[in-house]
Amino acid sequence: MDKYSILKKYFGYPAFREGQETLIDSILSGRDVLGIMPTGAGKSICYQVPALLLPGITLVISPLISLMKDQVQTLNQAGIHAAYINSSLSESQISKALWLAAQGQYKIIYVAPERLETYEFLRFALQAEISMLTVDEAHCISQWGQDFRPSYLKIVQFIQKLAQRPVLSAFTATATERVKEDIACVLSLQQPNILVTGFDRKNLYFAVETPRKKDSYIMEYMMGHPDESGIIYCATRKNVDALYQKLQNAGVLATRYHAGLSAAERRQNQEDFIYDKTPVMVATNAFGMGIDKSNVRYVIHYNMPQSLENYYQEAGRAGRDGERAECVLLYSAQDVMINRFLLDSKEPNEEQTKEDLAAIRERDEERLRIMTYYCLTTDCLRTYILRYFGEAGPVRCENCLNCAREYEETDVTQAAEKIIAGIREARQRYGIHVIAGMLAGENRAKLREYGLLEYLSYGSLKELGEAEIKRIIHQMLEQKLLSVTNDRYGLLRVSADAAQRLQAGQRVILKKVKQEAEKASTARKESAAKMRRSDILNSKGLELFEKLRLLRTQIAREESMPPYIIFSDRTLVDLCVKAPLQKEEMMQVSGVGEHKFARYGERFLEQIRAFTGGIREKYYFGEREEVQDQSGLLAGARAKKTDFFLTPEQAADFPYAEKYLVTEIAEKLNSLRDAQTTKKISGAELFRRMQAKEYAGEERKDGIWKKFVTQKGQDAGLWIGMRMSRNGMEYEDIYYNENAQRMIVELVCTK
Ligand code: ADP
Repeated sequence: MDKYSILKKYFGYPAFREGQETLIDSILSGRDVLGIMPTGAGKSICYQVPALLLPGITLVISPLISLMKDQVQTLNQAGIHAAYINSSLSESQISKALWLAAQGQYKIIYVAPERLETYEFLRFALQAEISMLTVDEAHCISQWGQDFRPSYLKIVQFIQKLAQRPVLSAFTATATERVKEDIACVLSLQQPNILVTGFDRKNLYFAVETPRKKDSYIMEYMMGHPDESGIIYCATRKNVDALYQKLQNAGVLATRYHAGLSAAERRQNQEDFIYDKTPVMVATNAFGMGIDKSNVRYVIHYNMPQSLENYYQEAGRAGRDGERAECVLLYSAQDVMINRFLLDSKEPNEEQTKEDLAAIRERDEERLRIMTYYCLTTDCLRTYILRYFGEAGPVRCENCLNCAREYEETDVTQAAEKIIAGIREARQRYGIHVIAGMLAGENRAKLREYGLLEYLSYGSLKELGEAEIKRIIHQMLEQKLLSVTNDRYGLLRVSADAAQRLQAGQRVILKKVKQEAEKASTARKESAAKMRRSDILNSKGLELFEKLRLLRTQIAREESMPPYIIFSDRTLVDLCVKAPLQKEEMMQVSGVGEHKFARYGERFLEQIRAFTGGIREKYYFGEREEVQDQSGLLAGARAKKTDFFLTPEQAADFPYAEKYLVTEIAEKLNSLRDAQTTKKISGAELFRRMQAKEYAGEERKDGIWKKFVTQKGQDAGLWIGMRMSRNGMEYEDIYYNENAQRMIVELVCTK
């Protein structure tokens, strides 16, 4: 059998996703690999498929018991012999599993790293034929990562003891350069094929909200998403308990998870969530590692987490099935203080020296700051995240709250000057809270105590209010006019060249949400959120979906399995779309492999036959193309229109002019296309193409992203000119002359 047959036979998928094939080929050729892919990208397939093709056993080192169980259940469901060995088993169960393993019963064995040095396990491993060793959650080996596990270091010693070195494959979703180097180095990977796929999770919608009452926001959200499964993360146990109670009182089916509950209660609650008995989970960040539930439709953060790494990991638990999901962060200024308190009360590890601790603290502060900026930025949220992880994001993603919002700009340069004066007067000894309070003329005890009421700057920005002053300070930090010390005090410092830059004409612009536009964007967001299942299936299709879902729940109960391990939501949708009546037809459905068909196929077919009466109708909207994965059923069902292009005849009507902005060009192009069959093109997309052809680019200067034109671009007819914003502010943008316009038109004419 080859890799394609394995993928179809056992996993029921017609094609590999981005990156999977490269890694699999590499492993099969005997070369080590390091796969860095975001949650939900499909890392498991990358080692499970080669495991079935290699002659011996694959050992998978995994840090989490629940994760192992889930993976092994999934594999067994697919008809693959796998087992796990960890502390959840009794000694005799372990002996039995090892005995079976020695008999060659399992192709894949999951083990906890601690297990590697036990006598019994070693005895087994030294005699077995181990073809591959896979390190899952490989970032746990890096002391730089937040999830460092000393037991991971034992992996290296273990490998050295083996008679023959197996091929090594390591996987993680966290990838700062440092962690990546650490993994390759500590594990001594040999000329590894390192593959980093894009970190973007296109199906996730991002939003930061600052509701006055977080609880009311949550209640309203629950009303709007009644049948959906989601996680609400809170910073502290106390928050978890309080919110959980409120949801209970309101009749929402919710459960909770935090370290203060007994192990038994945690296990039970987790299961209830996984088995969809209680669709809503309220938890601290203790929850989630190793949770593979694929139909989590939203992750709400009740409090801001400590770092963007944490945030992306936790938020990333939404939408693993590739369907649209939402990641909402509820921010309040208090969150920064809660986090600082949590950092202060972090238990140090015994092995860490004083210097280590100081370095870690500094790093934590930096991370917290970057996280806070995420909550305050008015730029595209996805781009902010991607850029942090070292990836070039689009300028606007059009799938986050910030892209949906309309802003108005205010010049606050004068206020910025007063802020600088205030910080100087206070001799740079205070943080943002004190400085903003002083400038706003607050009469707090602290301010009195420090003698700040006597300052010349005291109350000099009274008319703006404290919150607004803080916003301006954040903008100044972004522009590097100010900085903060990297310690817990976060003292504000004025950059050496700040005054000079302001004198030379640099402006400080604050973007504020336009109130009237806000309502429109909420409506847009809501309609976008509806573009899910219900968007593909028509009312009969939804009826069928419900029937199949109930059948799935029933089977899940009978087998004590989480429903999504039987079939994913995505597979159910595909079942409704294809409405198979025979085995051959059902085998074409994404996620239906041979083994699963043998177990459940007939029951589902029976249900579909009963529903249709043997006569298939159309249970979905539109023309469905055979696109099954990644871009998703959704895209397949909706992608009736082709990507933007113009025929030469249409292009001939382009109204060339002396100069246009890229958005104007896009607008003109769109008016020429056949709107019935062709999608629009955006200015951002055109600009991306200009970037790809190296006519122009973007760079970050003084904390602001600025566009620039290359020499090649100038030769082609692009130049930087000044524009006027609605409130009379000047700023730079790129203009295109007639020559450049012709070039673009030609570019989009070729499909
Ligand atoms: P990760 O470990 O990277 O977070 P998983 O391995 O859990 O992701 O995979 C996420 C989901 O994607 C799973 O439901 C998995 O079955 C599915 N999947 C993986 N590879 C493919 C593929 N080639 N085609 C369709 N679905 C896939």
